[in-house]
Amino acid sequence: MPLDTKSYEIPVARSAADLREAVAAWRAEGLSVALVPTMGALHEGHLSLVDLARKNADRTIVSIFVNPTQFAPNEDFSAYPRTEAADAAKLEGKADLIFAPNAEDMYPEGFSTTISLTGVSEPLEGTFRPTHFAGVATVVAKLILRAMPDIAIFGEKDWQQLMVIRRMVADLDIPTKILGGPIVREPDGLALSSRNVYLSPEERKAAGQLNVILRETAASVANGAPISEATAKGGKRILALGFEKLDYLEVRDAASLAPFPNDRPTAPARILVAAKIGKTRLIDNMPV
Ligand code: AMP
Repeated sequence: MPLDTKSYEIPVARSAADLREAVAAWRAEGLSVALVPTMGALHEGHLSLVDLARKNADRTIVSIFVNPTQFAPNEDFSAYPRTEAADAAKLEGKADLIFAPNAEDMYPEGFSTTISLTGVSEPLEGTFRPTHFAGVATVVAKLILRAMPDIAIFGEKDWQQLMVIRRMVADLDIPTKILGGPIVREPDGLALSSRNVYLSPEERKAAGQLNVILRETAASVANGAPISEATAKGGKRILALGFEKLDYLEVRDAASLAPFPNDRPTAPARILVAAKIGKTRLIDNMPV
């Protein structure tokens, strides 16, 4: 398949071969390359990562792939927003190439390999989405091996994912530098997410309070409150907002995501939350 240069202003590679050809041409010119993996439905959070890519490399690839293997059967894979044309328009003047493979190209018949991590991938999201990080690690490894970028950029919005990818890249000696980009938020502090489009106006209002409770809980831990007390109180407040299920509200070691044995942080810490409102599951995190 030739590089698609007709559909949008930005060329689109749909196969590994096309992607590699484009990257090889840049390499021949001595240019450095950044990759920003996404599932599309792009918003300012994604675009901030693209800006970071442009600051750190000569050429920027944005991959758009709604990866089936990171969704469990009961999750929103089919409903997940797919807006390729709008995404391409948002990337104009920012990205140099879109990589948008289809599922058959990424996972041809007979595909049998999974990369799964112990440790950092096990708690929190790992408890509630047990197959999620294996899907993420495998697809990110494939995207990196296809593009062979100098750097790959991920958002701190998915903090545990960022830690999982850093671990995988270190463990597998993948020579790509991983950069994290700060969380982009709405004016009321709600972390931008492609899933925010699912929220009803009432849910959207409650969702805007999640970051406030997160910040206040982090502050009370930073001021000396025991973690278990502060998170129990914060959890009750989240449920009182109208969230029907709190998967977790935890203060953990920022890098390993292990709990602190003495109920107080003894190393750089992060507060992380996942909670469901209506049919939407939201996650957020911040430093303590
Ligand atoms: P997704 O399309 O949801 O897989 O996200 C693609 C990348 O964008 C991931 O590295 C996310 O962490 C990152 N991202 C998503 N939302 C935000 C946000 N609000 N701020 C910064 N990065 C984000």
